[in-house]
Amino acid sequence: MSPSSPIVPVSGTGVVPGVAYAEVVWIRPRPELPKGGKSIPEESREAEYERFQAAAATVAERLEARAASAEGAASEVLTATAGMVRDRGWQKAVRKNVRGGHSAEYSVVTATDKFVSMFEAAGGVMAERTMDLKDIRDRVIAELRGEPEPGLPDVQGEAILFADDLSPADTAALDTSRIVGLVTELGGPTSHTAIIARQLNVPCIVAAGAALREIEAGTQALVDGALGTVTLQADPDDARRQVEESRARAEAIARWEGPAQTKDGHRVQLLANVQDGNAARIAAGSQAEGIGLFRTELCFLSATEEPSVEEQAAVYQKVLGAFPESKVVVRSLDAGSDKPIAYANMAEEENPALGVRGLRIARDNEALLTRQLDAIALAARNLGRGEDAPTWVMAPMVATAREAQWFASLCEERGLIAGAMIEVPAAALMADKIMPHLHFVSIGTNDLTQYTMAADRMSPQLAYLTDPWQPAVLRLIKHTCAEGKRTKTAVGVCGEAAADPLLACVLTGLGVDSLSAASTAVAGVGAQLAEVDMETCIRAAEAAVDASGAQAARDAVREIIVGPAS
Ligand code: PEP
Ligand code: MG
Repeated sequence: MSPSSPIVPVSGTGVVPGVAYAEVVWIRPRPELPKGGKSIPEESREAEYERFQAAAATVAERLEARAASAEGAASEVLTATAGMVRDRGWQKAVRKNVRGGHSAEYSVVTATDKFVSMFEAAGGVMAERTMDLKDIRDRVIAELRGEPEPGLPDVQGEAILFADDLSPADTAALDTSRIVGLVTELGGPTSHTAIIARQLNVPCIVAAGAALREIEAGTQALVDGALGTVTLQADPDDARRQVEESRARAEAIARWEGPAQTKDGHRVQLLANVQDGNAARIAAGSQAEGIGLFRTELCFLSATEEPSVEEQAAVYQKVLGAFPESKVVVRSLDAGSDKPIAYANMAEEENPALGVRGLRIARDNEALLTRQLDAIALAARNLGRGEDAPTWVMAPMVATAREAQWFASLCEERGLIAGAMIEVPAAALMADKIMPHLHFVSIGTNDLTQYTMAADRMSPQLAYLTDPWQPAVLRLIKHTCAEGKRTKTAVGVCGEAAADPLLACVLTGLGVDSLSAASTAVAGVGAQLAEVDMETCIRAAEAAVDASGAQAARDAVREIIVGPAS
């Protein structure tokens, strides 16, 4: 076996949890658009328009037939799209162009362009409809040319659908007995694709990025909608077992209500990772008990100037306000490396991941940090948050006890509860010296893994190393938890490891008090914890820490928690 398998070449935003394992099919390409030029003689123009009308009617009837066999939002989307094909204004614009001597195909393009410009000028919801307009344009052009309908391919057996983005009509027409997973290069958690995928309950990842295009149709892929990962070269038996487990888990998850505890009543606080007010509202609708990681830097990625204290406070208030009676952990600006912030980061560096990022920025610019802390304190005050709704603040990239002490003193001056991320191996190893300055720590397994394994977390080739199941990482977590217990410092985990239900059991067994993950993963973790007792979590933790590698740790823990592989 290659030391580098399995490969996780793509990750995106998981919007519907669940595991799918099948061949990749790509959405059928859009037709090439015709070039201009007057080509239809006067006497043929009426027949040319009739040719358009027949094609438009066929496309509309096809969409209406699909609408009739779909339900809910899917049916509404298909009906609305069919309505656009039959729209009189659009058809009139096509007729005008055909009468001017253009081909039906080209007339469809120019008529659509006119409406797209109008919709874009109107902005808002109208601007979002331009994708539907281009979709009907492409369908009618393909019909006029006698080409297969663009969009969903014919699928034999089960398949995972890959697309740059899906039109609402494509998403709504998905046959979920065949399309068992969905991955798009573009889109976002609130896009049409995500909304309908949720309704259809198909494991779905959006915003997977350009790397998705490297994966060819026919490739066998394992998609995890909770972790947001696409894995190639997965062991087929292991992959199928994951799919079966995911189905059983889906049923348990649907029943799970929270709060999280093991079968024998050991409580673990389950929290959500968010990046803005919208994500916080979504989290509030999940079973998350609060927010365990608010990545503040993601609010300011496009800001060229530092927002004022009041502007920042307004942004933070949206997040804090989503959990008016619960704990929210705000992380101070983690700018740098893969998240450069124009107003915070300085000159280019040879090795930005090892450079002036996170808390280190504030060494030469303390006021940047104190203004942010002022804004967090102001937001908490404006909302009247007190002991019942604690506002905790933590610093990223802490490496020494001195840094922890400095950050804690700045927080204390503002009445904020101070903590630090444990994501630099030095911080884990020095936990006994760091913790006495702090109220809590939160282990960032993404960076802790990157720095422990000396492997860039962005590198698809090194994904086998940047795996939080690596026992070296688990040993550092074990040490941190032991020091947390000894010094009575709360220990949480807020990296992606917390979203993996089996790894969550290991982390619980190691002694973490809270787990913070994407909202979509919270119920999956809670339902898994409910099925195991603490003694099993401890056994799983011991096995994982003692394993020789990441896959061996996974296998050992799976055997303890799920049972032997069949
Ligand atoms: C981490 O490193 O695990 C973490 C939670 O922080 P980020 O992913 O934002 O670097
Ligand atoms: Mg980090």
